[in-house]
Amino acid sequence: MQAVEGATDLAALEEARVRFLGRKAHLTVLLRSIPELPAQERPAVGRFGNVVKKELEGAIAARRDVLEREELVHALERDRIDVTLPGRALPLGHLHLITSTQREIEDIFMGMGYEVAEGPEVETDYYNFEALNHPPDHPARSLHDTFFVNDLVLLRTHTSPVQVRTMEKQQPPVYVIVPGKAYRRDNDATHTPMFHQVEGLVVDHGITLADLKGTLETFAKAMFGEERSVRLRPHFFPFTEPSVEVDVSCMICEGAGCRLCKRSGWLEILGAGMVDPNVFDFVDYDPEEYTGFAFGMGIERIAMLKHGVTDLRLFYENDLRFITQF
Ligand SMILES: [Zn+2]
Repeated sequence: MQAVEGATDLAALEEARVRFLGRKAHLTVLLRSIPELPAQERPAVGRFGNVVKKELEGAIAARRDVLEREELVHALERDRIDVTLPGRALPLGHLHLITSTQREIEDIFMGMGYEVAEGPEVETDYYNFEALNHPPDHPARSLHDTFFVNDLVLLRTHTSPVQVRTMEKQQPPVYVIVPGKAYRRDNDATHTPMFHQVEGLVVDHGITLADLKGTLETFAKAMFGEERSVRLRPHFFPFTEPSVEVDVSCMICEGAGCRLCKRSGWLEILGAGMVDPNVFDFVDYDPEEYTGFAFGMGIERIAMLKHGVTDLRLFYENDLRFITQF
């Protein structure tokens, strides 16, 4: 009884139980040996042995109750959870810089009444080249470093095929921008095999080069700041005539000349021009009635200029130390 009452935890109590009531305990051995006793001693020994056994069992059960309750109280104390503590915050992601730049561009043009159009990335030669005034032997085709699927199917090298697809589907007026991926066999600090463009197309009565310049100036100011201006330089694209390259005044040096703008004070941001009447022929628009302009810009380039990123490949290496800065 002392061993039972003195047990301070469940393990000590179990030890006492095995010692006094286990298979090898004196009492157990004694009770088992009753049949071997002289007949007249058996009832007294049996009765007394069972009384002792019952008393011990009762004491052990009572002590176990007490110890288990103590254990529970202790466990509740030890594992206590303060539900009023603030939770652990999960790290919150955000849009990739290319996606957020694309949406920013879309927002600017939607604000001017443009619709957003999309088209397939796996394109036919017809839409990627031919209908954009690149006949089969046109030298401009070789500039594109095209990924061909077969002779007639390719990964689009620009988003311009969607111009043609849009014009096939609707009559003027057309005011669309086409954001999306394009592909070329190119890989260095300013080229990746997959890149993003935003194409713009306007066709309406009386559209002139002045409308193009005003539109792009509005865009440049919205994107790079009110104090920006744009200039047009003559260029060549097969599907626009005349064609221009568009520069924005350098946002780092304010036009004075710096490393970013190579001392010129200007940064090239996109190519553009008046839609060549030959392209209208492909989609049955009357070039006597309508004129239009088109422009195309690389989203990566816009993002690089705006945020001072110097290597385009950083956008696609998925290094969170880079990505989370924006
Ligand atoms: Zn500069």
